[in-house]
Amino acid sequence: MRAVRVHGLHDIRIDEVPEPGKPGPSEILVAPRWGGLCGTDVKEYVGPVGSVPDQPHPLTGACKPLILGHEFSANVVAVGSAIANVRPGDRVAVMPLHYCGACPLCLRGDFILCPQKAWLGISDRWGGFGDLAMVQSYQVTRLGSLTDEQGAVVEPAAVSLNAVLRGGVAPGDTVLIVGCGPIGSLAILASRVAGAARIYVVEPNPKRAAIALQLGAVANLEGERAQQVTQIRDLTNGMGVDIAIDCAGKAGTVNLCIESVRPGGVVSVPSVHPGPMEIDIRSVTRKPVSVVGSLGYTQEAWDRTVALIAAGRYPVERVVTSRTPRDEIVAGGFEALIDPGRGELKVLVEVNHAVRDA
Ligand SMILES: [Zn+2]
Ligand SMILES: [Zn+2]
Repeated sequence: MRAVRVHGLHDIRIDEVPEPGKPGPSEILVAPRWGGLCGTDVKEYVGPVGSVPDQPHPLTGACKPLILGHEFSANVVAVGSAIANVRPGDRVAVMPLHYCGACPLCLRGDFILCPQKAWLGISDRWGGFGDLAMVQSYQVTRLGSLTDEQGAVVEPAAVSLNAVLRGGVAPGDTVLIVGCGPIGSLAILASRVAGAARIYVVEPNPKRAAIALQLGAVANLEGERAQQVTQIRDLTNGMGVDIAIDCAGKAGTVNLCIESVRPGGVVSVPSVHPGPMEIDIRSVTRKPVSVVGSLGYTQEAWDRTVALIAAGRYPVERVVTSRTPRDEIVAGGFEALIDPGRGELKVLVEVNHAVRDA
């Protein structure tokens, strides 16, 4: 079969690879339909550091060259003998988290905290940009009324909803979102779902900022950090916002969030910073501020995401800015995303055109 694999920096190829074979008792063979590209994929292409292991992953044994694609919808092709939740022909969204199921954290249900966890398309043997992928029984959710394209956006949408839930956004809150890439843009929509009254953003790219305003943000704060903080105070009766969400992961963005929240406010950090950074811990104590990390999503946040999309409350397809056939993934996907002039958010890659039979 054919699959998009990362071999190294600036080395993404469409390779001929062996098919996964028949599913084991609790496995499901799927044919990916649409897959999203995100910042994690772009880091594999341009660096400086990616997430795909060079050495075999302890849970999955996977390493480079590795099949990419961790945000995808698919058609079920074949199921193992113990599978009861889906049948061949079902359309599904795939939750890429692959956990051990046996450690104390997994046994508590905190799957995202599993120390052995792997991700399809990042540290597993299969990914969404292959003709076929083998997934675990718990990794599929039937799409029901969701479109295949919406199904491909469930994954980043769950990351954003999880960050909004970790921040505790409640009806009537004011929210600041720093960085309006896909996660920040989806966080605007997720904050609206949670009842935010006013959403402000910090996004230097004019095309992305324009989309943020279309999605429901009321103002983009410009200028240097001190000016942005002054504007936030002016807009919130001198108080600061209730919750700030750092979706940029750049030097200074967490401190901007700490300075922008009101006393007693919350800073939620779903972005993965490239390394350690200084934060204003004195303000964290004296204001005080709660700084919470938001890693991926819980199963609950995933299920809430699917339910909200189905209900028409979380229109995640609005962040899709272009589509490309898999054969053109480098030019139409990776190169498009690193061109700031294009202001792309989510590029969807079409992997298989139609249902594939076993
Ligand atoms: Zn992603
Ligand atoms: Zn575990």
